[in-house]
Amino acid sequence: PEGSSSFAYEAEVSKMLDIVINSLYTNKDIFLRELISNASDALDKIRFLSVTKPELLGETKELEIKVEYDPDNKTLTIRDTGIGMTKDDLIKNLGTVARSGTTNFIKALSESEKNNVNMIGMFGVGFYSTFLVADRVTVASKCNDDDTQHVWESLNGESSFHVGPDPRGNTLGRGTEITLHLKEEADQYLSPYKLKELIRHYSEFVTHPVSLRQIKTVKVPKEKDEFEEDDEPKKDEGGDVEVTEDKEEGKEPEMEEVTTYEYEQINTDPAIWARDKDIITDEEYQEFWQVVSKGDGGPKAEDWTHFTAEGNINFKSILYVPSEVPYALQQGQLENMVNGLRLYVRKVLISDEFDLMPRYLSFVKGVVDSDDLPLNVNRETLQESKIVKIIKKKLVRKAIELIRKMATAPMPEDDAAEAEVDADGNTVIPEDKPKKVHPYITWYKKFGLSLKMGCIDDSANKDKLQKLLRFKTSKTDGENDYASLQEYVDRMKDWQKEIFVFPGESMKLLKESSFMDAFLERDVEVIYLTDAIDEYFIGNVREFSGHKFRDITKEGVKFSDEDENIAKRRAKVYADKFKPLTKFLKKLYGSDVSRVSISKRLGRAPAIVSSSEWGNSANMDRIMRAQAW
Ligand code: ADP
Ligand code: MG
Repeated sequence: PEGSSSFAYEAEVSKMLDIVINSLYTNKDIFLRELISNASDALDKIRFLSVTKPELLGETKELEIKVEYDPDNKTLTIRDTGIGMTKDDLIKNLGTVARSGTTNFIKALSESEKNNVNMIGMFGVGFYSTFLVADRVTVASKCNDDDTQHVWESLNGESSFHVGPDPRGNTLGRGTEITLHLKEEADQYLSPYKLKELIRHYSEFVTHPVSLRQIKTVKVPKEKDEFEEDDEPKKDEGGDVEVTEDKEEGKEPEMEEVTTYEYEQINTDPAIWARDKDIITDEEYQEFWQVVSKGDGGPKAEDWTHFTAEGNINFKSILYVPSEVPYALQQGQLENMVNGLRLYVRKVLISDEFDLMPRYLSFVKGVVDSDDLPLNVNRETLQESKIVKIIKKKLVRKAIELIRKMATAPMPEDDAAEAEVDADGNTVIPEDKPKKVHPYITWYKKFGLSLKMGCIDDSANKDKLQKLLRFKTSKTDGENDYASLQEYVDRMKDWQKEIFVFPGESMKLLKESSFMDAFLERDVEVIYLTDAIDEYFIGNVREFSGHKFRDITKEGVKFSDEDENIAKRRAKVYADKFKPLTKFLKKLYGSDVSRVSISKRLGRAPAIVSSSEWGNSANMDRIMRAQAW
């Protein structure tokens, strides 16, 4: 423009622009994300300043982002009422002063095979992504610190840019208006459908309203030209109006199409996590669940927790537990699990799959928004940062706490209605009605495996996770009867120090097994283990609250002292008596068995094959054989 001066791009910027412009494999859509996030940043800045100095807002009080497309001129405009830029800001921010991330970005680009420009925003050079779609970019900006509105302009491929006073004068009041003169191949960004989709995607949770100006053509009665208007209807002698031909009964007036504009706010649902949780309805939480789960994990979330972490690191978060097992987890394809939460920094989306959960909690979905994270570092660096590690730790604790709440919740209210009053006026739960199942049991049946994995993987939280486990036992073996380890311990015999577990292939086999005889006879509870992971679980976790797991198919099972004494004496007698038999059997089986001895614990069965205390159980051998192929 007239009166503008030219400035050379700083060398690194120039180099980067070359790469951006020539990158072939880039998702060009991202330019809009970068511009919206810049606008949102600028709005955040003025909002922050105006908290203490409301007069800074002046005439321009509305804090908003507006997007406009103009198919005739092939331009796309993004306007904000943010803090704006002075002439110096325009020169420094958009060209001359090397921004710290530039060099890193160039390095990352040359290292990534596909020139992944998508990362541009992480390096603090997002603005330049506009050149992916535009061959001319104009930035008009008005800042409180500068009386004049200035324009920055640059053509694609130029090594310089131009800055001067805006010939239109002050049109903005305050803020920034970026006009993209779109390349021919970028005309999809003139489609309101495409724009709406992109704005919705990138700004759904931007806390400032983002509106799209839509072009509407409406039909209005055609304005008559002057001649017609003056053409008064002729009157006849009697003074009656003579109806002219074209105005005959009910004939519509002639219509014409005119173009008007209409703004539509696209992000109607700003950051739910930043709102006061007391005023958020369950329906709203469930709607947001749809966003974060992307439909994987059931139509409804099982439960959620919404909290603010305060301390050295501050963040807000909503974590959800799904009601259904996500697809990849169902398939046992843990490696394909999308293991991530939506990470925002100051309400700008950094990633919708940011790794913030350990593998075993990969089904937990949600959002984390922190003011303490830098916006302009690359994702990998961020992933490794100390702050993220601290956030991760807190999130895991919160997720476990959420599951604990589900587990300890009272039976839902409506089940009380099942109760009936009998003839004596007592409330009874009718026996014929099937017992209601606690929602946690229903959930646990689907997700228990992940929790067991957690006990193995996450030693720091092992104790908490163990309390969430539920087991079928010889005393709770109905369809929906489960016992927690604590319940088992509470029911242990006085003499009992260990937790008896019985790993095996199926409930039916376990229940009917001769190994159970001695336990059933003595009314000693045994935990049935039928998951493939159970062997690893007891091998790894070893104990619960000081009580060791004891595999009843192995040697070393001990009952009460009294019991043991009798058995010992009896065994001694039998050992002598049956010496010829045990000798004969050992000879018969040779090296196939390590020992033939008199058992202390058989009930119905005459003989049993058991494992040595330190060897694999038969079930483990079965699992290993199955995996050996
Ligand atoms: P980043 O946003 O990571 O700082 P960008 O390349 O996206 O990097 O933007 C460069 C700088 O230009 C910003 O830091 C900001 O100072 C300035 N800027 C860009 N867009 C705007 C805007 N809409 N309003 C005010 N300043 C802006
Ligand atoms: Mg930016």
